[in-house]
Amino acid sequence: MAHAWKACVRKDSRVRISPPPHFDKFNTLSKRDMPNKQFLEEYPLYKKFSFEIEKLGRGMYGITLGTVLVKLPKPAINMHCPICKSMQTFNMVGEYYDDINKKRESSPAFLSFQLNYFCSSCKTNHYEFFIDFGVNRTIDKDKNEVWSNGWVRKIGQRPEWSIEVDKQLQGFLSSTNTELFKRGLVCESQSYGIGAYSYYRRVTEAILADLLVEIETLVPEGKDKVKYTVALEKTKKEIVASNKLALIKDLLPSDLLTEGYNPLDVIYSAISDGLHNWTDEECLDISEAIRKCLEFLVVKVYVNKAAKKNFTAGMKRLLSGKFKK
Ligand SMILES: [Zn+2]
Repeated sequence: MAHAWKACVRKDSRVRISPPPHFDKFNTLSKRDMPNKQFLEEYPLYKKFSFEIEKLGRGMYGITLGTVLVKLPKPAINMHCPICKSMQTFNMVGEYYDDINKKRESSPAFLSFQLNYFCSSCKTNHYEFFIDFGVNRTIDKDKNEVWSNGWVRKIGQRPEWSIEVDKQLQGFLSSTNTELFKRGLVCESQSYGIGAYSYYRRVTEAILADLLVEIETLVPEGKDKVKYTVALEKTKKEIVASNKLALIKDLLPSDLLTEGYNPLDVIYSAISDGLHNWTDEECLDISEAIRKCLEFLVVKVYVNKAAKKNFTAGMKRLLSGKFKK
């Protein structure tokens, strides 16, 4: 099977191609521990994150059981502060139940919230997140309402999700491809997965040949380099991007794996199968994986080039000093 990703069957019996766990990191987090740092920092608007919301009930001594506002976490987050001009910790100010219509022991289901986060350093700059919670409601055979498949999503944020293309990636892209990539980011920020996938795929296909040439500089000298160079020559005769990748993806040096995943293999899996009948949500996961793999590889190439440049400059200085004596 060509997929590096496992096909798994969800409760609704639709077959879904899941991105590798590295990219699907939200799935590894507790479904009770929401909203969390990554959700606030990175998640695009409207994408629902499953979050188990237990229906309110009465326990012994009148204690409220279930998911209540007072127990929702208020995680500190790291965001860029334009006043401090650096990454800073931002803390949530206020409570989920500050609103007059909400109580400490209200359920978050079917409610929306504005979360205000202030920079812990300048105490001035702030971010606002608008989130809402929901569940599926069904009636069981005893005519009781049952809650399942709870979720939380962002419905707005200020300032809005950055659609700036990573600087190093931008240095690698032509102006046309930068524009296409930016459109991919816009789609991703709005959870238009099919759109994001299409734009990222187009950019990947456009830059792949150059990227594979650049990656050659990262392969250590020796047997592996020879193999890579031979495969690289073969890729030049292929027109289709996935065929190019099939020839070379397994020759990536091990230090270019990211948390055990081969980024070329991930990109290959993402673009070799076409859109199929993937939903917007599924395309969104895959788009995120493509974007992160491209950024990862380009940054590696960039860092390697910068290191070589510094090394050469350093050597030149050293040698010129030596020979001057
Ligand atoms: Zn600040």
